[in-house]
Amino acid sequence: MELNKLTAHELIEKIDKEEITSQEIISSLEKRIKEVESKVKAYTKVSDLNLLCPTSNIKHPTSLLKGIPISIKDNICTESLNTECCSKILKGFKPPYDATVIKKLKEAGASIFFLKTNMDEFAFGSSTENSYFGPTQNPWDLECVPGGSSGGSAACVAADEAIWALGSDTGGSIRQPASFCAVVGLKPTYGRVSRYGLIAFASSLDQIGPITKDTRDNALLLNIIAGPDKNDSTSINTDVPDYTKSLGLDIKEIKIALPKEYFLSGLDPEIKDIINEAINKLKSLKADFKEVSLPHTEYAVAVYYIIATAEASSNLAKFDGVQYGYRAKGKLIDMYKKTRGEGFGEEAKRRIILGTFVLSHGYYDAYYLRALKVRTLLKQDFDEIFKEFDCIVTPTSPTSAFKIGEKIEDPLKMYLSDIYTISANLAGIPAISIPCGFTKKGLPVGLQILSKPFNEEMLFRVAYAYEQNTEWHKMKPKL
Ligand code: GLN
Repeated sequence: MELNKLTAHELIEKIDKEEITSQEIISSLEKRIKEVESKVKAYTKVSDLNLLCPTSNIKHPTSLLKGIPISIKDNICTESLNTECCSKILKGFKPPYDATVIKKLKEAGASIFFLKTNMDEFAFGSSTENSYFGPTQNPWDLECVPGGSSGGSAACVAADEAIWALGSDTGGSIRQPASFCAVVGLKPTYGRVSRYGLIAFASSLDQIGPITKDTRDNALLLNIIAGPDKNDSTSINTDVPDYTKSLGLDIKEIKIALPKEYFLSGLDPEIKDIINEAINKLKSLKADFKEVSLPHTEYAVAVYYIIATAEASSNLAKFDGVQYGYRAKGKLIDMYKKTRGEGFGEEAKRRIILGTFVLSHGYYDAYYLRALKVRTLLKQDFDEIFKEFDCIVTPTSPTSAFKIGEKIEDPLKMYLSDIYTISANLAGIPAISIPCGFTKKGLPVGLQILSKPFNEEMLFRVAYAYEQNTEWHKMKPKL
């Protein structure tokens, strides 16, 4: 049996029955990585395959996760393990501490992969092409992008080079790659999961979340990583329910809103048909649907790229060659300039310039402040809908995976691929993407479900009901 193909909950069951050991899981992953990693390039580098997991963390027969390995995005701090955000400027950076999510995973008995997953530099992008290590390829079509910025995490799970993974989502970076790779990706409510140890892109939007092969694994992983943290003052002090309890509840009379702005002309007609089929499936499970309007949706991309770049320009100011990673040669001021000039890639520089501009005296009110006001209006659109509805269903992305190189020269085109995912981050609400079909070319399509803050249970409930009645999540790419 190829253990690397199984889900974490299936593996836990087998370990419980003493049919397998965690070491066998790791061996099967090593074998798979050797077979396909040269094609997929989901990881930042494969140096020593015998060092996939720290050995100290694989002996937990009584723990919840029993030594099952997990793959981690390159922007989540892992003690003594390179964490470079796939940027030259962080080359060789080994954090002196673990992010809270890593600490929690270790306490639950997970083994942390030594290899980190590939991503767009500092999570800036929708295709993983902005990585200093080069692009990841989509396991379903190696000529296509896996989505981004957590493209490595989504691709390694889809290609069975990982059991499950963590990503981060600032404007769609978990959900869009999950949709492009036919895996399940969740962006939790802002404040549900600690951001301590996540190298910040845009602090008011970032959340860490699970990327998994099915909904049960996703709920299981959120159980472990969610919860308040004294090291993150934006994490919220509310109880963490057992998310697996929402799996299996029926969705009869659950009220689902369909926002008409998400089904307009920008949506690829083939994707629209697939989404409509998924909606019909949910209807057959007796969910109630009604069309609604989220009138400020048209401003979401503009608002996001003002707020996200403003915060990014500030967050990236600390990378100056003194404390972290790469340092260019030269006297102090020259060293600063050269380090930043040589260390940041093109997209990072574009965002630092844009963010600095919208925050500058004279433009602050016209752009940044106005964007914050429209952000509130966007949030109020959602508040209104959730007074009446349990959740919202939309496509995750207007297209399926595009070709490598297709949008990289046109940043605006690239920015528009986030049109359906960005609003959830601006409003702070949770959203999940689940596989719901394939295009004629065989590329995966994702269905997005959104709910009100701290109601991830509703997302899992609807996602699981759908999954139980479809086979999409079981499909595997031919590699
Ligand atoms: N694609 C979006 C961007 O480029 C979102 C990225 C993310 O969620 N990290 O900003």
